[in-house]
Amino acid sequence: MKVAIIGTGYVGLTTGVCLAEMGHDIICIDKIKSKIEAFEKGECPIYDPGLPELVVSNYREKRLLFTTNLKEGIKNAELIFICVGTPAKANGETDLTYIKQAVKEIKEYLDHYAVVVQKSTVPVQTAQWIKQQLIEKADVAVNPEFLREGTSVQDFFNPDRIVIGTDSARANGLLTELYKPLNTPIIHTDLNSAEIIKNASNSFLAMKISYANLVAKLCDKAKADVHTVMAGVGMDKRIGKEFLDAGIGYGGSCFPKDLESFEATFKQHNVDASLLDGVRKINTEQVEYVLSLVEKTLDVKDKVITVLGLAFKPNTDDVRMSQSIVLIKKLQAKGAKVKAYDPKAIENAKKELENVEFFEDKYLALKGADLVVVATNWPEFKTMDLYKIKEQTNKVIDGRNIFDPERMKGLGFDYKCVGRNK
Ligand code: NAD
Repeated sequence: MKVAIIGTGYVGLTTGVCLAEMGHDIICIDKIKSKIEAFEKGECPIYDPGLPELVVSNYREKRLLFTTNLKEGIKNAELIFICVGTPAKANGETDLTYIKQAVKEIKEYLDHYAVVVQKSTVPVQTAQWIKQQLIEKADVAVNPEFLREGTSVQDFFNPDRIVIGTDSARANGLLTELYKPLNTPIIHTDLNSAEIIKNASNSFLAMKISYANLVAKLCDKAKADVHTVMAGVGMDKRIGKEFLDAGIGYGGSCFPKDLESFEATFKQHNVDASLLDGVRKINTEQVEYVLSLVEKTLDVKDKVITVLGLAFKPNTDDVRMSQSIVLIKKLQAKGAKVKAYDPKAIENAKKELENVEFFEDKYLALKGADLVVVATNWPEFKTMDLYKIKEQTNKVIDGRNIFDPERMKGLGFDYKCVGRNK
């Protein structure tokens, strides 16, 4: 099929590249000229495992094209995916500026029948609005994206389910055919339900993390181990073991904003959502909790603190709403000198932080440290040479619970973590 993708970010690029890999003709459109030029040079300005290789091979095979020109990009497209950003406004509601702009341009330039697919995460009834705008021009469908940064290619090809929300049989037929090779259960719904499936899923996952963090605080007070507790909880199939890791809290470009947006939607519809309010509050407090562990260990003023991990999660260069960045700013406000290391996210973190000394080597970042904080659970931190850490400092605050507390204490570390401080 001929597919146009509007918005070549994490979601748009992954969707475009993976559909190209499946044999479709893809044009990825983005407003940012430098981004499009980078792709055309065979570079991939977004890091995610496996993505750059697929960009290069599909671009070479001419199944994947890039443009800044939306009018050209949607010419002949049977499917037009909207994958633009939907950031949060200051009041927590979703800012739909980019969606509106994309729809306006589609309305202006579309000169043939097409299905416009809303893939960005939006509040319920946004697609109804799009449908009204494009009436008699296109059919509209909602096809929310569930991929996770860090495993986006893997997630695209192996989703748990695909959601297709539309009241158009034609749109439903085209999308069902598109996704057929993935051999995955497809849920066919109306537009509104498809949007709420995405909102409710993300908020539920955020809730699981906050729940684990809440229980972690009790474990610390009551001398229990949250790791063991959540393993026991998660073995119940009705609950599931994923997303029950206690730590510094969730971040990223999705959970924080999607939860707030969902809360705003409840408010607009006069439905009490204090449950979600609690989820958000716990997450905000979680950085404070890790900070309190640091301060219990030393007075941070004028001390050198090395922060391991800047990305909001492993295997990505994305630092949007990263708890690590929040923590670093709080440490600096208290007078700490911060050194930091991340395998992929330093360039992005430089745009968010000032007066941080960045290192390309984790062991060099440790030199002269008074204390180390683990803020992202990159696999390479789990296998670090603990003796090399100890040569610099014995004070480790493990904001991601990556080390074994008994072992750390046995090695003489002044070690604190989240919910395992028996
Ligand atoms: P992103 O910010 O990485 O990319 C969005 C891109 O859209 C940007 O490159 C921007 O320049 C481009 N853009 C904006 N308006 C445009 C227009 N009118 N024409 C062409 N390009 C335009 O965003 P993302 O992380 O890919 O997220 C996109 C959407 O998908 C959001 O709604 C997000 O909530 C949702 N989502 C994200 C993830 C994730 O892991 N990042 C997962 C699932 C869903």
